[in-house]
Amino acid sequence: MSSPTIGVFALQGDVREHLRVLADLGVHAIGVRRPVELNACDGLIVPGGESTTMAKLARTFDLLEPLQKRIRAGMPTFGTCAGMIMLADRIEDGALGQETLGGLDITVRRNAFGRQVASFEGVLDVKGLDAPVHAVFIRAPWVEQAGDQVEVLARVGDGPAAGRIVAVRQGPLMATSFHPEVDSDSRIHRLFVDLVRTA
Ligand code: GLN
Repeated sequence: MSSPTIGVFALQGDVREHLRVLADLGVHAIGVRRPVELNACDGLIVPGGESTTMAKLARTFDLLEPLQKRIRAGMPTFGTCAGMIMLADRIEDGALGQETLGGLDITVRRNAFGRQVASFEGVLDVKGLDAPVHAVFIRAPWVEQAGDQVEVLARVGDGPAAGRIVAVRQGPLMATSFHPEVDSDSRIHRLFVDLVRTA
């Protein structure tokens, strides 16, 4: 696919930041609030924000089931932070009855790095990139458990969370605990755009 359209789930979260990175990469990108917008997309990004609110709004705006259906049908999808939670099949420390879109055979722990530590930054080696990335974590989840089909792309290098999985890929689905959209580094988005182009 030479010039795909990539949607950014736009009912809640840091939508503008993702749209900006995609624009910088020369990718046609649109905000997705309604099923008709989703239909126009070849791939989707679910941004950082608040996963409980995202799930509720997606249900209210009749977007939850269409999203689940497209993801099940193989639409390349990339989740960052709250977006990682949205793509997870299972959540630890979720809100009561919290729904997700699912698709990734992972268990994520919400606010895993501790509620007191609102945010921190670090340097990570990411599979597929030849130099480390600067990673910003904001009330981030980590991957507590990953199924056999899940490829680990990055783990925390040092500190109390050393070894924790913070980036994964499973077929056309990708997720990071951190926020590549807040930096000027677009290499992680480029990995996803390549995934959409080859899907
Ligand atoms: N803690 C948030 C949640 O549970 C995620 C935070 C983020 O996306 N920066 O959805």
